[in-house]
Amino acid sequence: MRPSVLNPLFAPVSALPSIGPKLEKLFRRLLARDATPPRVVDLLFHMPTGYVDRRSRPKLADVMPDTMVTVAVTIDRHRPPPPHRPRAPYNIDASDNTNTLTISYFNARRDYLQKLFPEGETRYVSGTATLYDGHLQMVHPDRVVDAAGLAKLPLIDPVYPLTEGLHENQLRRAIDLALEHVPNLPEWQDEAWLERNAFPRFAEALYRIHRPAAPEDPTPGSAPWSRLAYDELLANQLALALLRAHLRARPGRGSTAAGRLRARIIAALPFSLTPSQQRTVADIVGDLARPHRMLRLLHGDVGSGKTLVALLAAATVIEAGRQAAFMAPTELLARQHLATIAPLAEKAGIRLAILTGRERGRERAEILSALAAGDIDLIVGTHALFQEEVAFHDLALAIVDEQHRFGVHQRLALARKGEAVDLLVLTATPIPRTLVLTFFGDMDVSELREKPAGRPKIDTRTLPLARLSEVVDAVKRALDQGRRVYWVCPLVEESESVDLAAAEERFSALRARFGEVVELVHGRLRGPDKDRAMARFAEGSARILVATTVIEVGVDVPQASVMVVEHAERFGLAQLHQLRGRIGRGAERSICLLIYKAPLGEMAKARLRILRESDDGFRIAEEDLRLRGEGDVLGTRQSGLPGFRLARIEVHGKLLSAARDDAALMLGRDPKLTSPRGEALRLLLYLFARDEAIRLLGAG
Ligand code: ADP
Ligand code: MG
Repeated sequence: MRPSVLNPLFAPVSALPSIGPKLEKLFRRLLARDATPPRVVDLLFHMPTGYVDRRSRPKLADVMPDTMVTVAVTIDRHRPPPPHRPRAPYNIDASDNTNTLTISYFNARRDYLQKLFPEGETRYVSGTATLYDGHLQMVHPDRVVDAAGLAKLPLIDPVYPLTEGLHENQLRRAIDLALEHVPNLPEWQDEAWLERNAFPRFAEALYRIHRPAAPEDPTPGSAPWSRLAYDELLANQLALALLRAHLRARPGRGSTAAGRLRARIIAALPFSLTPSQQRTVADIVGDLARPHRMLRLLHGDVGSGKTLVALLAAATVIEAGRQAAFMAPTELLARQHLATIAPLAEKAGIRLAILTGRERGRERAEILSALAAGDIDLIVGTHALFQEEVAFHDLALAIVDEQHRFGVHQRLALARKGEAVDLLVLTATPIPRTLVLTFFGDMDVSELREKPAGRPKIDTRTLPLARLSEVVDAVKRALDQGRRVYWVCPLVEESESVDLAAAEERFSALRARFGEVVELVHGRLRGPDKDRAMARFAEGSARILVATTVIEVGVDVPQASVMVVEHAERFGLAQLHQLRGRIGRGAERSICLLIYKAPLGEMAKARLRILRESDDGFRIAEEDLRLRGEGDVLGTRQSGLPGFRLARIEVHGKLLSAARDDAALMLGRDPKLTSPRGEALRLLLYLFARDEAIRLLGAG
């Protein structure tokens, strides 16, 4: 139960005075994070993207063109557009005793302007003044007030992200009201820490960001914003620490194995393990043998051999007479894992099966009963694996091949499946250090740093769309050499059908040129159709696979050595790197052609350059985060970290380890959060929607 002191913050926005259904709807679009209607706290956490500085109050003669000013002017004359030119601006002549100013509006209502600017009176007009034909002009001032209004005009005015139909002033008024609802809350931060950082109290921090007295206040690096960001980071680290404590509290059973099965698998491989694979396997075997639960994250570049490590982990618990489950993010991937694992499993005598949404009826029933009876050692599948109906005989290890989709929620659901299931999470690509802490602070971490030997570097080139015909010729040559080609068309969610049409068009064009060897896969295809297309490509009867980003995750066709990516500028850095990882899997030298639509923005240019230069996923992940951070600073992107509302990793990332230490220290002293500070920290968990963690306190 949420403490009642927080109720004012969790009241729906619609409960604020003067917010009717129409505004409610707009706020819902602007603020709602899931299905729940926006609440007062969502308004308060709606952070500015910048601010307007209205402190400059010059005389007209002293106005610097192209700066933001507030001027006091007398309204002299209205000059509506002439009847035969209705699109011309509506001009208002104004002056002070030093110069004149023309205030211009396009498409404005006449009666509205006449009321706003009564002739002969003084008005205070705030906006950016420009010089037009040597004459001072202000187009669409953003504030026009009389003397009474001026007294209330904020000197520093935050600027917020809006949504269509919502006016800045409506949002400001709502935030004003919300600020009045901030209750007096006990401090959850350490007093000495606050003082050392000059962090204000929670309520004061909100106030200073939304009603700033200094221009730096509404920026992410300010003390008030950093305070709130630290609150959020601490809530996050505390929740992870509670999760870790919860998952580890129940003793596990050790799975000890001499390594017979592992040895059989390794013997069946045409290569030897890389040093980091060996190290990681040793870590995992150690974890599995111990009688407490393993929570381990394994990250490494695409193609660094995570699947094999996962299989060796599974072999360990299977040798101990228990079961393992391997969950993939998509059905396609699950089938692929099955195909990769099957020959090795057979050699080792591991009984293998698959369970996805597609296994139905009799087949499904048989798999379920075999699982329950312990006749299946290793099951590969999708989320379907962790549904209620699935019962294991003795599940010891859950391996989750994740796409950042496997949140705290799922970790908990999984923990409930087995008596003390050990957990191994594989990520698709390396994760930057700060993010590992943020999202996996509850886990131990292994990295696969080096790539398997003998992989030549991928030759990556960038070309403008205008040179597409050269690309098609290059594809022709590649086909003549017997290579296989991925051709990736982006799918951007906003207009899926349009993008899909683009992919289909490209498919037809390539078919017209190359014939039957061209296949198409995309997210809208039904499972069996997708598999058929993929299978044709894998066996070589299809040689060009036109695909939307469904191939991003894990498709493994070692003979594919050419990749063309259209509209590469639309992809993120990490995403392109991951796509590129689909080639360069065989001994053959691979080539990746990134086609972009000119002109390129600075950010896109930087991304493509990094890809040309590097194929080290760890470096690329860090650069990606850095670039996205810069994007935030430039205001080109809304938020940095998924799941975070206030913390911006490039600004507040350095607070992360402090938050982690603080959380550990606090739980060490007060594991049930019952001291006064502990109670206050519970409020913090609610505020940042980490209250799931509070239930763990009760359950533990
Ligand atoms: P990841 O899941 O990390 O992207 P995979 O496990 O799919 O990578 O491995 C990619 C390819 O590399 C597979 O074909 C796999 O058989 C092969 N591979 C794995 N480990 C090694 C190794 N040590 N040496 C050579 N090839 C390896
Ligand atoms: Mg993989």
